[in-house]
Amino acid sequence: MVHPLLDSALDILGRLIAFDTRSSESNLPLIEYVRRVLGGYEIESTLVYDATGKKANLYATIGPRDRPGLCLSGHTDVVPATGQPWTVPPFEMTRESDRVLGRGVADMKGYLAVALAMVPRFLDVSRQTPVHLAFSYDEEVGCLGVRGLLSQLAAAPVKPLACIIGEPTSMQVAVAHKGKRAYRCCVTGLAGHSSLTHLGVNAADFAAEFATYLRHTARDLRERGLHDPAFEPPYTTVHTGRISGGIALNVIPDHAEVEFEIRNLPGDDPKVVVDAARAYTEQTLVPEMRAVHAGSAIAWQTLTEYPALADQPAADWLKRLACSAAGNPKTRTVSFGSEGGLFQAIGVPTVVCGPGSIEQAHKADEYVTLAQLAQCLSFMDTLAGRIAAGSLHAA
Ligand SMILES: [Zn+2]
Repeated sequence: MVHPLLDSALDILGRLIAFDTRSSESNLPLIEYVRRVLGGYEIESTLVYDATGKKANLYATIGPRDRPGLCLSGHTDVVPATGQPWTVPPFEMTRESDRVLGRGVADMKGYLAVALAMVPRFLDVSRQTPVHLAFSYDEEVGCLGVRGLLSQLAAAPVKPLACIIGEPTSMQVAVAHKGKRAYRCCVTGLAGHSSLTHLGVNAADFAAEFATYLRHTARDLRERGLHDPAFEPPYTTVHTGRISGGIALNVIPDHAEVEFEIRNLPGDDPKVVVDAARAYTEQTLVPEMRAVHAGSAIAWQTLTEYPALADQPAADWLKRLACSAAGNPKTRTVSFGSEGGLFQAIGVPTVVCGPGSIEQAHKADEYVTLAQLAQCLSFMDTLAGRIAAGSLHAA
């Protein structure tokens, strides 16, 4: 059965796709469009800009602004399409009989379009309990943008009751994911002729030693660390993804880099791993390097960090609500990250549920089926019904 708001959602989705909101670009044209759509219903939007003023989060409340409501949240940025074998223009919506294609239709402009199409319906029902829209930027580059909005919300007199983030989960309710921390360690040694190894500090050697240390940490976590069968794999992982160093075989490398990441279970504190790795570089490797050359160093750079989303009892009512709206009593975990842990960190119970599959995200010819969009509309219908009945917390 076709949902009465599907055409409206598709019109909006077509508009959203046409804004090139790769994380490297400004998202303001899209944000201005959303602000105009909401303005048409006399709904005010608050914009929280980044330091450059070229990107912004949008926060809007449908209904009374003096009390907490249900927050629908998603990011406006998308990953690049460059170099991918697209058969349709990525920044244009292509409609086929049972699906639409375009960069971001699944991740996650489809959800934003559905939420916007639902605005008139939410307006009708939100006299007592409001619906908040939180649209962020720079999610794809480490959940950076939403932090500005969340620090404002954390200090505001009214925080959302709960949040549903519409990352693509095929409309299944995801209650947890791992956290992530990623670093680049730049090793500075001392160059020299390769025949005089005792006079130089071989940065590549120390980078390799650090990577080996990380491998041992990974093994310890796998063998002796916390295990949670809800995740695949069921333990915290440590992974080195890039090592570089050296310019020629006959030169002692004075520079090398190691990039690594930790993906921690919600119950594991990644800081423990990071602190131990830092102590290893500072107390074991650097002193050995400095014994030869005082200018040696290992400098750490943070690439990404976002917290895990934990399955918490505080979110039980939200899980029940989302599962009943999704028509599926089973919850799951997801392997990808989201802004969920950040919402949770300011005390807002959060789940992840949105149309489309993560399998299609970030790929050429990204698509979402009309059935998924319709299912998301029905999901929001149920939420609207529960808001109207004042029974969000009901079992
Ligand atoms: Zn996403």
